[in-house]
Amino acid sequence: MSNLGFENTDTILMEERIFPPSKELVEQANLTAYMRSKGFEDYEAFYQWSLSHRLEFWEDMARELHWFQPWQTTFQWQDKPFFQWFVGGKFNIVYNCLDRHMQTPTRHKVAFYWEGDGGESRTLTYEDLYVLTNRLAKALQNLGVKKGDRVAIYMPAIPEQVAALLAVARLGAVHTVIFGGFAANALSERIIDAQAKVLITADGNYRAGKLIELKKIADEAMSQSPTIETAVVVRRLGQEVPMQAGRDHYLDELLATIPEDTVVPCEPMESEDLLYILYTSGSTGKPKGVVHVQAGYAVGVYTTTKFVFDIKPDDIYWCTADIGWVTGHSYIVYGPLANGATGVLFESTPTYPEPDRYWSVVEKYKVSILYTSPTAIRGLMRFGEQWPAKHDLSSLRLLGTVGEPINPEAWMWYRHNIGHDSLPVMDTWWQTETGMILISPTIRQPLKPGSATRPLPTIEADIVDSNGKPVPVGKGGFLIVRHPWPAQMRTIYGDPARYRSYWETIPDVYFAGDAATRDDLGYIRVQGRVDDVIKVSGHRLGSMEIESSLVSHPAVAEAAAIGKPDPVKGEHVKVFVILKQGNEASEAMIAELKKHVRATVGALAVPEELEFVPSLPKTRSGKIMRRVIRAKELGQPVGDVSTLES
Ligand code: ATP
Ligand code: MG
Repeated sequence: MSNLGFENTDTILMEERIFPPSKELVEQANLTAYMRSKGFEDYEAFYQWSLSHRLEFWEDMARELHWFQPWQTTFQWQDKPFFQWFVGGKFNIVYNCLDRHMQTPTRHKVAFYWEGDGGESRTLTYEDLYVLTNRLAKALQNLGVKKGDRVAIYMPAIPEQVAALLAVARLGAVHTVIFGGFAANALSERIIDAQAKVLITADGNYRAGKLIELKKIADEAMSQSPTIETAVVVRRLGQEVPMQAGRDHYLDELLATIPEDTVVPCEPMESEDLLYILYTSGSTGKPKGVVHVQAGYAVGVYTTTKFVFDIKPDDIYWCTADIGWVTGHSYIVYGPLANGATGVLFESTPTYPEPDRYWSVVEKYKVSILYTSPTAIRGLMRFGEQWPAKHDLSSLRLLGTVGEPINPEAWMWYRHNIGHDSLPVMDTWWQTETGMILISPTIRQPLKPGSATRPLPTIEADIVDSNGKPVPVGKGGFLIVRHPWPAQMRTIYGDPARYRSYWETIPDVYFAGDAATRDDLGYIRVQGRVDDVIKVSGHRLGSMEIESSLVSHPAVAEAAAIGKPDPVKGEHVKVFVILKQGNEASEAMIAELKKHVRATVGALAVPEELEFVPSLPKTRSGKIMRRVIRAKELGQPVGDVSTLES
């Protein structure tokens, strides 16, 4: 951790705008109902109660789910930093996402509206998804998949992908989903690390109209992955692909022999049995296989979907993430299905065929809750307000973001253009490792642009120095969490030492690797990764604050700031800027942008160097890889780039 040891990150980005919650929303909020059941009207009093009644809170939440056998011990933390939740319980997350809805009217409710790359649609009810999942589980069982086996999933965003996760988990096997945009090497590296014996894939797909030969890539990966015994291929395109006899099977052919009414009972799992391994997006280096377990994870994502998105029976909820990332696992698949919600599953990209694709999907399915990323919002801002203006977005009632710090400018644009100037915007902070949202507004809190606001109930997040001592208001430090929560990762697959480092970097607390500051309201602003902090003349600047300033200039679409060694200042700032369409990369523009940073952030942050670029290196999940920019700039080796978008 190159910057570990810094004490003061200066908050130079001031944000004074506050948006109080609507009384009506507060009155109807799921969280309000729970608070009242505990005798609270005041959120602050409730939050304080939750810190001292952590286990009671999570027991209440867990009781809303179905258990084959109740747990005996809610939480155990003997072999620190390893811990367990709901010990002694027998549970299956898939029973909670599907089976229990078969006895209620949810059975006939839409589970997913699927929007294909080219605009085609499919509608699946909970019953349809249940039937597909059971038959797929049977097919996998026939191929020898059993409890504990690892199954890799490398697919486009189609209903069969959701069913694949659910079928694997139903059998008690462990899925590892690999984003369908990865190349063969990255895929096989993950298959081998997880020791997956089955790969579920598709013949191919279109992404933004471009053919992706998924099976061909999968074949190359499998030829380098000795653990793979079997491949299941979904016909997404219906085109002929080479099939290796004995190894490869078309899903439709497997299903042809399995009756519609086949039921494969959910495997009763121990609470702490593995649910999945997921490799992180890789902005900091070699991807880590983050391990999540059945019960605690289910309780965590069920609860946060219910309270953060305030999901209601008639909502149409759309999370634009890919299922290949944790956001898709927690908030496309497991959280929404456990809540019996109706979701949108989207196979395409924000700008295909035109930069209004998102808004046309919102209009088409009457989406009421939209959860997307700052990258997508910034990318779309670039094309102008006329694109959302073409669509009826009146169905929306709540917005969310995740994945990166959101600059206040983008937050305001989102609220203004998409949120009719009135909708709450939930800036949710969490990680692959945390499994669920930890810091985010709930419907009850006043909002501040660019701030994830406060930790959720029971979550004790803090900002500390390298000794674990809380830093004063306005000063920067390390974002930490003091106590395990149910959906937290249990280990890094095959690398427990790497897991330990999360709890040992700063003794006895979970160290997230992010830098943050807190304001006088107690609101947390996440500044980005500790490694992306820039140190100028003894002051520590979050790269996000400089980028945020640049992006607030009308000519700038995107920006990345890095620190470069400087004999006088320690480091100086270099920025890379993508201009919006129709602006000229001139000396005058450089001067103007520097002036703008000086005016909005301060003299310290003024970039010494400013370069206009057509694009920035990003992870396949859309995050700027400052580590790669830095390495290239300094002529150093760039390290692992398997997650770099090509
Ligand atoms: P790797 O750990 O492999 O480098 P990654 O950290 O990008 O990849 P994720 O787990 O998907 O992989 O992302 C979590 C990180 O994303 C957080 O640690 C934080 O840096 C950033 N992040 C997520 N949500 C927010 C948010 N709302 N505000 C600020 N930063 C966020
Ligand atoms: Mg990370």
